[in-house]
Parts: sequence; C-alpha cells; structure tokens
Amino acid sequence: MSDDPDGGAPAGLYVHVPFCHSKCPYCDFFSEVGSGLQSAFVDAALREAEHHAAGRGPFDTLYLGGGTPSVLSPDGLAALVEGLGRVCSFTPDAEITLEVNPDDVTPRVAKLWRELGLNRISVGAQSFNEDELRFLGRRHTAHGALRALEAVREHGPPNLSIDLIYGFCGQSSTSLRESIDSAFSFAPDHLSCYQLTLEPRTVFGRRHARGELQRLGEEEERTCFLIVADAIRSRDFDHYEISNFARTSLVRSRHNQKYWCHTETIGLGPAAHSYRDGRRRWNVTDVADYVERVRGKGDATVGSESLTQKQIRLETLLLGLRTANGISVDFARTIDSGLDIVAALVHEGLVTMGGGRVTPTLQGFLLADGLPLRFDLE
Ligand code: SF4
Repeated sequence: MSDDPDGGAPAGLYVHVPFCHSKCPYCDFFSEVGSGLQSAFVDAALREAEHHAAGRGPFDTLYLGGGTPSVLSPDGLAALVEGLGRVCSFTPDAEITLEVNPDDVTPRVAKLWRELGLNRISVGAQSFNEDELRFLGRRHTAHGALRALEAVREHGPPNLSIDLIYGFCGQSSTSLRESIDSAFSFAPDHLSCYQLTLEPRTVFGRRHARGELQRLGEEEERTCFLIVADAIRSRDFDHYEISNFARTSLVRSRHNQKYWCHTETIGLGPAAHSYRDGRRRWNVTDVADYVERVRGKGDATVGSESLTQKQIRLETLLLGLRTANGISVDFARTIDSGLDIVAALVHEGLVTMGGGRVTPTLQGFLLADGLPLRFDLE
C-alpha cells in the first residue's frame, strides 16, 4: 500500500448483489427482500460490466458483496461469475471473494463455489451465541453457523474469512471470547470484527432514538475492542486495520485495501460506488430502476463527485491511520507542523515511526477516528 492516489496497484471489481432473505435490524447496506429480479439483475450487471469494466484491468480482485450474494441460485451465481470472466480481464492470481450467509451454505453449494473458481469466502457468522444471534435478528442459529463453516472448510474455497459483530448490551466478555474461540476452531485465514453501530436509518437506530435500545458507553466499547484485539493478536494474527485481522499479511483482504489507499475500483450493481482518477461515482439505489437504466444505456450512474486535493489528503489521513500501514513520513511532512504532531503522538504511545511510515499502535487504533483530528489539514 502507498499514500499515493491510485498507488499503481491493479484495479478491483466489486459487484453489489442487492438481495437478502430478511433485513437485519442493524444493517444499513442497501438490499431488497423478496425480490423476483435476480435473473434480471445478473443480466444487468453483465451489461454494466461491458459498459464500465470491459477493456479495463486486468483486475486482481473480484468481490461479490451485498446484500447477500449467496441468495443467488447456483446457476445465477455461475452466470454472473462466468459472464464477468468473459467480459473482464483478471490477473491469474486474482482474489475472488464471495460473501455468504451461513443459512445458504451446504456441502453441495460450497463445492460448487470452489469449482466456480471462487478462492475466498467470507462467512457472516456474527456470533456463535443463540441469544446474541436472536438479538441481532439473524436468520441462522449458532448450530447453523458451525455447520456452514464445517461445510466451507471441507468443500469450499480455500481462503476463509469470518465476520463477527460485538459491543452491544447483553453481550458478556465471556460470550465474546467464546465466539472468537469458535471462529478459531475453523482455522480461519481472516477475521473481520465490527463493533455494532446504531445507524439512524435502521430498526436499531430508530429504537435507539425512541430510548428503547442503549448503546454501550465509551469505556465499555474500549473494553470490548481490547478483548477482541487481545484474543486475536495473541494468536499471532496481523491486526492490519482497526476491524480486520489476517493470519499472515499475505491473506489480508486485497480488495478492501484498495478502498483504503485510493486504488481504482469499479462497482457494479445498485448502490455500488466506483473510484477512478480522483473521481467517485455511484449507482441508483433501487433494483428495478437499476435494471431499467442498464437495459437502456448500460449505465446506472446517478451521482458523481471529483475529489479535491484537500479531500484526497484528508481521506489519506483518515483511512491510513485506521490501518497498520499508517501514513508515510513524507506525507506527514506536507502537513502543517506534521512532524511535530507525529513526535507528540509517538511520545503518547499512539503511533510508532519506522521504515518511513507512521503507524498506529493498539492505543492509536483505540482512538479510531480521533487520531487524524490531531492533524490540521487546512
Ligand atoms: S447484514 Fe447482511 S444479511 Fe443482514 S440485511 Fe444486511 S446485507 Fe442482508
């Protein structure tokens, strides 16, 4: 990774699969429940790929996210992946990720996913505790998550990532540690552990606004973060972003790293965002509208913005200090009193300096977005 916009890395391709079986009360991602437009969506995504992604690349990542991509039938998913393989060019070692819901995993489909050429699978287990899964409104049970992970490990793509959610009222430190232990019993290559946030447009956000659902206090959130970080770091995992951990640096999420260092990404599907040459654009947030627009002109863009140099610098700071890659000393030097601020942060134990980089410590990660606020980019 580098600080430089576009950083010279190959571009990544993202497909937003906008369907879910049910809506989780904390989720702010765009998806539709009970849609009959799955096959129309696949056709539209391929047409959009011809419009925006053919002739670009080669891509070294394909990320099928959402929504719940595993909601697609095996035939629908095969049509999408094989179609993208015909339309777009990929590097031979491209990282190809599928996000799945445990309820959709069986030994048979796990095998089909591997045969389709998917090499990385991200399982949204979220917790292995029945009460917590019910609170989170998940469709699957703890037993279902265990069965899904067994099937993936035995038959599925080789590289396994597991998602967990933590930091909500009713979760004990013991159950949090137990969920992490359960995840580790499947020898994952990667873990994404997100603190629950109560987004205003969600059911949980509205319950919070009505005073029916409390968020954790700051001190409790810090404690939860440290439990997660300690439990995973103690297994020698690479804590390479505030919420992300990899068995080794080789199995970091190649795709997500592109978002953190302004590498070109092309997003297909409703609500998908793309970034290229300092310009961001995004698609319409409605499946039927998306299909209609793409049928017409191959494009569903409804908005765009050119980032100013100041915005790019601000994002470089904000995103960089959320990762173990940090920011370069050269970049810090371009900020008013930047090296003095870095020296103060080193003194406070919030960052370290070495190899030309300024890198957050665990205490620095704890401050999350507070760390960049110490710099003045005016
Ligand atoms: S968390 Fe995942 S499964 Fe739940 S509504 Fe959001 S995208 Fe769908």
